[in-house]
Amino acid sequence: MTAGPFVVGVAKLRRQPGHRWHEVRHGVVEDLACSGSAVPAGAECAAEVTLEAIGGGVEVTGTVSAAWEGTCRRCLAPASGVLHVPVRELYTPGGDGEDTYPLVDDQVDLQPLVRDAVLLELPQAPLCRTGCQGLCPTCGADRNEGTCGCRAPVDPRWAVLDALRRPDGG
Ligand SMILES: [Zn+2]
Ligand SMILES: [Zn+2]
Repeated sequence: MTAGPFVVGVAKLRRQPGHRWHEVRHGVVEDLACSGSAVPAGAECAAEVTLEAIGGGVEVTGTVSAAWEGTCRRCLAPASGVLHVPVRELYTPGGDGEDTYPLVDDQVDLQPLVRDAVLLELPQAPLCRTGCQGLCPTCGADRNEGTCGCRAPVDPRWAVLDALRRPDGG
């Protein structure tokens, strides 16, 4: 296993119970996406964490950050933002990634923690801005750019009758 940017050697830390390390790591994590948004390819995630040796394991507390891009669910314009996800996880020998993460060869790999935190918080249905007005269901105009003059949507069956009744409708 090659040491990625998120691998932290903790042999020294584990010999010093009660000591705390502050670590800031950046790196690309592949395939961070959900149905509504994704971390852009090549964009780095960040982990700003404190590590502390606890009961044979290592506790990791801090914040995972990542930029995301997506499509506004109301107006279909590009939407983007930055996630800051609080994390508090335990690495233990024999950890399987369910209750605790694995602590192998005195190394803590923060990458699976970063991946899980980001995937949990990526917006499924993002908005381009707070209070986006969306598109007009009648003419498709972007209502963030002004009113289009359409009246409230009518039942399509009545719309047909309206067209037939128009004096110039032939
Ligand atoms: Zn929008
Ligand atoms: Zn309209």
